[in-house]
Amino acid sequence: MFSIAGRTYGPGEKAYETLQVSKLSVEVDLSIPYTVITGRRRGPILYVGAGSHGDEVTSMLVASDLARKLGPDDLKKGALIIVPLHNPLARLRKKRWGLVDNLDMNRVWPGDPEGSASEMLAHAIFSSLVLSADYLIDLHTAASDGENAPHAITPPPQLFKPKAKGRYAAREDVSMRLAEWFGTPFAAVSRIREEPRKKYYSFIYGELHVAAAMHGLPAIVVELGEGGRLSPKNYKLGYTGVVNVARHLGILKGRGRKPAKPIIIRSYKAVRAPRGGIAIPFKKPGEKVGKEERIAVIRTHREEVELKSPIEGYAIRIRRYPVVEPGERVVVIGSTETGKNN
Ligand SMILES: [Zn+2]
Repeated sequence: MFSIAGRTYGPGEKAYETLQVSKLSVEVDLSIPYTVITGRRRGPILYVGAGSHGDEVTSMLVASDLARKLGPDDLKKGALIIVPLHNPLARLRKKRWGLVDNLDMNRVWPGDPEGSASEMLAHAIFSSLVLSADYLIDLHTAASDGENAPHAITPPPQLFKPKAKGRYAAREDVSMRLAEWFGTPFAAVSRIREEPRKKYYSFIYGELHVAAAMHGLPAIVVELGEGGRLSPKNYKLGYTGVVNVARHLGILKGRGRKPAKPIIIRSYKAVRAPRGGIAIPFKKPGEKVGKEERIAVIRTHREEVELKSPIEGYAIRIRRYPVVEPGERVVVIGSTETGKNN
C-alpha cells in the first residue's frame, strides 16, 4: 500500500528501520535510523528530517520525539517518514561537520554515491527516503556559536519542478503554505544569486529543501534557535509546527489551528566585526531593529567599538559565542524589503 525505500507497508503500521550506507574502518555500520508510520488510508507522505549538522540538538530532539511518540492511531491517512539524524558522523563529533570528510552536509544534497562519506549519506537518504515522500520539512538550528530567531525558509519558487507521477504529489509549489502552517514568527524565501559565486555561502543548490523542491517536493527548512543546546521554547514550536503541517496535509488527526502569518524576510544584512574582541549584542533574536540603532559592542583592553544596524529590520541571528575575529558576523538583520544579501 505504501512503498518506501523499497519496502511495502500496509495500513496502520509503525516500523523502526535502518538504512545501510557503508561500513567504517572500525567495522561499525555507517547507517541511518528512520521511522515509518502509515495511516489507514492512502494519502500524501511527509518527510521530517533533522541532524544534517551534528550540533543542532533542539531540532534532532523534535524529530526523534515525534518518531517515538506518534503511532498509526494518530494518523488519518498518508504516512510519515521521520529521520532524526541525517549525519551520524557529525553528531558523534558534536559539531556541524562530520568526521571523515569535514563537509557541510547541507551543501551536498542530493548527494553522490561515488562521493565522500557525507555525500554518500545524503545520496542514500535522498534517493531512498526523500524521493518516497511528497512534502518535506528539514529541521535545523543556528550553528553552536549563534542563535536564530525561529524562522522557516522556502526554496526559490522558480526551481520547483513537479513530479512526473505520483497520485499525491504536489502539482505546484506550496512551500510557503507549509511555512505558514508551521507557525514560526518569520519566514523567508531562498534566493538564487544573480551575481557569480563570489562568496562561498552563495551556494544554495546543495541544501536539502532546495534539492527536494527541484524533485517535486514542496519543502521548508526551519531554524529553531540556538546550536549546541536545548531550547524548550523552540522545541515546543518545532514539535507543534510539524504536527500543524501534518494536520494541514490531512495526515495527522485533529484540526490544525492556523497560526498567525509570519513576517516575510526578503533580504539579510550581516553586521560583521570590524576587529576582534569580545562582542556583546544588545538584541534578542526576533527583536525589532531601527536604522542606525546600536545593536552590539566589541570590547577590548583599550577600546570599545560600537556596531550599528545599517538598515531597519529584525535581529534574525545573534552571535552567542562572544569572542569574535575580524569579519565574523555579530548580528544578522532580516529586512522585509528586497535588497542585496551579504
Ligand atoms: Zn543546520
